[in-house]
Amino acid sequence: MTKRILILMSKTGGGHRASAEALKAGFAQLYGDAFEVEIIDLLMDYLPWPVRELPKSYNFLAGTTPWLWRLLFQATDEQITAATLNRMAARVLGQSIAQAFTRYQPDLVISVHPLVQYLSMRALKVMRLRIPFVTVVTDLATVHPAWFHPRANLCFIPSQEVYAAARKARLTPEQIRLYGLPIRPMFATPPQRGPELRARLQMNPDLPAALLVGGGEGIGKVASIAHALDAHLRADGKQLGQMVIICGSNRKLYDEMSARKWSVPVRVLGYVDNMAEWMAACDCIVTKAGPGTIAEALTCGLPIMLSGFIPGQEEGNVPYVINHQVGAYRPEPEDIARLVTRWFGPERGELARMAANARQLGNPRATFHIVEDIAALLGDVPPSLAT
Ligand code: UDP
Repeated sequence: MTKRILILMSKTGGGHRASAEALKAGFAQLYGDAFEVEIIDLLMDYLPWPVRELPKSYNFLAGTTPWLWRLLFQATDEQITAATLNRMAARVLGQSIAQAFTRYQPDLVISVHPLVQYLSMRALKVMRLRIPFVTVVTDLATVHPAWFHPRANLCFIPSQEVYAAARKARLTPEQIRLYGLPIRPMFATPPQRGPELRARLQMNPDLPAALLVGGGEGIGKVASIAHALDAHLRADGKQLGQMVIICGSNRKLYDEMSARKWSVPVRVLGYVDNMAEWMAACDCIVTKAGPGTIAEALTCGLPIMLSGFIPGQEEGNVPYVINHQVGAYRPEPEDIARLVTRWFGPERGELARMAANARQLGNPRATFHIVEDIAALLGDVPPSLAT
């Protein structure tokens, strides 16, 4: 009989949604239609106003006033404060969560968002629903304590860096599984690099390529980095590289980048569904410190130039990239352009070393491992179709 799985996420950034979709795709790939997986945006679709406005504030706060986001993150970062807030929220919002559970009648619930652990646990308890609840942490190195609930059946974490935080929050080693961040199955077998791929993507076949992104929403300093890099990648009339600029859902950025005349070959794109191909076709990525993008780049063996981070949950991703020697951090567009240009020239060897380290650190099969463990929680596991 088909088992129903409910994934709770919210659109605070593209990462949670991307992880939720990765898990859904992983279930479909491994088990066909043995599981019916539904993804809901718990905050936007089920909670009453004004709480459902929270995700919108995230885009605004994280993008335009990161200092305020940091303040909020830190204010709720203490275990006790977080627990008190969670208890209050659960009392007020329990009914809305219960509605979602009544509607979908899940056999198992997965959370990929730090804000919903306590709310869901409380609703399950009040409804006397005895179904497994698992958390899949989608932040890479710095984690908010609200991610961890001691009664979660399993908690999947992406890195060694997160293990201590999970233990501090009283999770037992048996509850914790360390496989890596769930990324979409397309990253498990990234496309072959080479001239064919570049031709299909209408890129220059020979020039080294920098991929510029700003998360799902296209936020950060993408435009000024593109301008600086364009200037540096052309010296003495010679082109030293090319750029691919992915603007995500940021229409204004897309229009601005498309209208501009460039002095090196440039591809400007809106939201793309084939990120694995673009990553495989490029030689380095310039990005804010989004966990999804970092994890994906690692599996593609793509050195990472970090241009910034959202205070709080993305902060630890900077030392993560530097300590594992898979990239660098330069907050100034001019410095980014200078270093990337060196990577494409005299420091080619360093770029190749970072690419090898990235391939080693990446976990291309994390999604499949997570999905298999979750399926096992539901008892008689149907055979895996493709592992
Ligand atoms: N992404 C995508 N297409 C785009 C832009 C972004 O598929 O055009 C994906 C990207 O591959 C990653 C996610 O959106 O999986 C962004 O997540 P990340 O954690 O890096 O940043 P966030 O947007 O959550 O701040």
